[in-house]
Amino acid sequence: MIVIGGGPIGCAVARDIAAADFRVLVVEEHPAIGVPLRCAGLVSSRTLQLSRVSPEVIRHKLTGARVHAPGGEMLKLYGSRVYALAVDRVAFDRDLAGQAAAAGAEMADSTRAVDLKLIPGGVSVKLRHRGNLDEAKELTCRLVVGADGYGSLVAKRLRVLPEGERLPLYAAEAYLPGSEGQIVDIFLGNQVAPGWFGWVIPTGEGTARIGIGAPRRPYEFLQQLAEKHPGTFRGMRILRCTSGYVPVYFQHRSYGPHSLLVGDAAGHVKPISGGGLYFGLRCARLCAATAIGALRSNDCSDRFLARYQRDWEETVGQEIRCGLRHRKVFLDLSDEDMDQLISFFNKPYWRRLILKYGDIDYHSKLAGRLSNLPHWAKHFFKAGVNMMLAGCGVSKIF
Ligand SMILES: Cc1cc2nc3c(=O)[nH]c(=O)nc-3n(C[C@H](O)[C@H](O)[C@H](O)COP(=O)(O)OP(=O)(O)OC[C@H]3O[C@@H](n4cnc5c(N)ncnc54)[C@H](O)[C@@H]3O)c2cc1C
Repeated sequence: MIVIGGGPIGCAVARDIAAADFRVLVVEEHPAIGVPLRCAGLVSSRTLQLSRVSPEVIRHKLTGARVHAPGGEMLKLYGSRVYALAVDRVAFDRDLAGQAAAAGAEMADSTRAVDLKLIPGGVSVKLRHRGNLDEAKELTCRLVVGADGYGSLVAKRLRVLPEGERLPLYAAEAYLPGSEGQIVDIFLGNQVAPGWFGWVIPTGEGTARIGIGAPRRPYEFLQQLAEKHPGTFRGMRILRCTSGYVPVYFQHRSYGPHSLLVGDAAGHVKPISGGGLYFGLRCARLCAATAIGALRSNDCSDRFLARYQRDWEETVGQEIRCGLRHRKVFLDLSDEDMDQLISFFNKPYWRRLILKYGDIDYHSKLAGRLSNLPHWAKHFFKAGVNMMLAGCGVSKIF
């Protein structure tokens, strides 16, 4: 079988299928795994465990966040435990590629899948090598896994690419002398980062990962943010750009005859933060399990492969749907609403609650806690929030 895309999720799928003694080829269009880098590399420790990547990739441990309201108020959420890890994402991807190769997967770098079509009993994949763009070769397989990220070719060929947001993020690794400590800065506001947020993640020794999301020209918003917060951004020097797009939608169909989609290609991303590694890795396991079942029973029909959709929806579907609803509410908030929210939560009781239930992988845990409180809904999310929370089923979480 062929995995298209040698990103972390494709490699995790390839590792598990190869470990079950099936022949796996991973095709990656770039010459080196992990490059170009398009990530801030912020993950939970459970993500690292799930990936089986060596803890050596950890660059910094983060113990809290400062949320900057549009009006200037700051919500300080400083905890005593480690909430997130900043990892070397290139090393992370290479470790996963090494795991796949060690399990027996064949890795073909500089090889781009340019087309695929269904043939009797399988799929024919047209591949083009970087060194020889004039010539394409065709390989056939029983099953193809589309782990080809945002704008997936496999999703396009299956005609299942949903209408939905694909948000551009400007991101970079930077020299930032003022960024000591273990606290992440989050910047909110419709003038600051319309529809998303800005961030500074310290990575130690005066370096940081910075970024911002906006529907258009995010780099210009970063420049404005830096001007607005000279204390944080003074002396900033960009070392390498790590920008990219995040898919923000629900993928209602992530399979077709002889094909499965996983990771960013299937929208396995947290709609509130754009983080895709945790959901992607959870779905990679399920994808590999379905693929192994299909290959063993020699049934790669879409009827058989449909179980994968059910499996991942049961695992992360609720969290994605809930995140999408929260995002809808977030998009409707004015700057005044955000200021009020931050001001409301800036009390010891709320800060303790947020620190206790905040989880970068499961945003609904905290939302579920907050939804138990009627004045939260009444005051700040107005009428829409009740519908949203009921729709998410979050009140049933606790
Ligand atoms: C700026 C930014 C910051 C982010 N920060 C975080 C974060 O802090 N934490 C987090 O969890 N997530 C973060 N994400 C999201 C995270 O990077 C993705 O969710 C993750 O990379 C998804 O992995 P993937 O393997 O599905 O896709 P990708 O990592 O996109 O890998 C897909 C691979 O497929 C290859 N490919 C594509 N098409 C073809 C083709 N036709 N033929 C051959 N190869 C092909 C690509 O070259 C690529 O290597 C961030 C994203 C962005 C853009």
